[in-house]
Amino acid sequence: MRIDLHTHSTVSDGTDTPTGLVLGAVAADLDVVALTDHDTFDGLVEAQEAGRRAGITVLGGIEISCERDGHPVHLVGYGCERTSPRLLTELARVRSARAGRLPAMVDRLVSLGLELSVDDVLAEAGASPSVGRPHVADALVGKGYVADRDEAFRVYLAEGRPGYVPRYSIPLERAIDLVHAARGVAVIAHPWGRGNRDVLSAPYVESLVREHGLDGIEVDHQDHDAATRALLFEMGGRLGLIRTGSSDYHGRGKRDHDLGCNLTRASAYRDILRRIGERGGELPR
Ligand code: AMP
Ligand code: FE
Ligand code: FE
Ligand code: ZN
Repeated sequence: MRIDLHTHSTVSDGTDTPTGLVLGAVAADLDVVALTDHDTFDGLVEAQEAGRRAGITVLGGIEISCERDGHPVHLVGYGCERTSPRLLTELARVRSARAGRLPAMVDRLVSLGLELSVDDVLAEAGASPSVGRPHVADALVGKGYVADRDEAFRVYLAEGRPGYVPRYSIPLERAIDLVHAARGVAVIAHPWGRGNRDVLSAPYVESLVREHGLDGIEVDHQDHDAATRALLFEMGGRLGLIRTGSSDYHGRGKRDHDLGCNLTRASAYRDILRRIGERGGELPR
């Protein structure tokens, strides 16, 4: 079984439509793919319809923008009820903060001498309800200021760079509780990627398991080197966590994140489905 549990479409900051992504998953010889767009469920109906037509299982997911002590961290929810009022309210708050910080980000970039408008960014975001820094990056690429998203983040948009503006994100503990209230399964995405090793320390993760019933952690991810994967695998086993792997595919938006480049073991996938089923969440159709 080839199972990839974390991908993005044009509904957030990927570059393939949900249908295109599902067809790509078939071409990559996957048996199961989860669509986990940032802070929105909007792509799931289309992706699952495409999955039915193409004969591939599409698990419904979401990647939620969270924070711990002001540092961005990402939580993936699988099988969440898409009508859960508390979760939907918080997601709407995050999406409106995404849109709300755009003028401030554009102002900063303009003050650095770049010529850019909010409309340029919105044109890149298209119909996405979840506009983010990658769309700002695409606008900078379009104007020829940088070669690609990577350079845009490195020079302007990453935390600590001059174009960075923070926005509201959901406290991680609360997001885990919201996923559970929506009958879903909560897995921390790339926990030790991008300098987050101290933000999500082992004792803290242990407290999330004990006090909030955290279900799993992503182990096999491009932001983790081999040594980090080994440590996370060991920690996950010790804490009884479900250990996943994924591409975190963004289409052309992220290099070296091809569909299927990391996979989730069939036993871990079965554990996720079992928990969704026990909680009465949304199983793949
Ligand atoms: P935002 O959602 O606006 O906070 O932007 C964060 C998103 O930017 C992440 O989910 C990644 O998809 C993307 N991202 C972060 N760093 C990079 C990078 N170096 N190159 C391309 N995309 C990135
Ligand atoms: Fe992203
Ligand atoms: Fe992420
Ligand atoms: Zn992601």
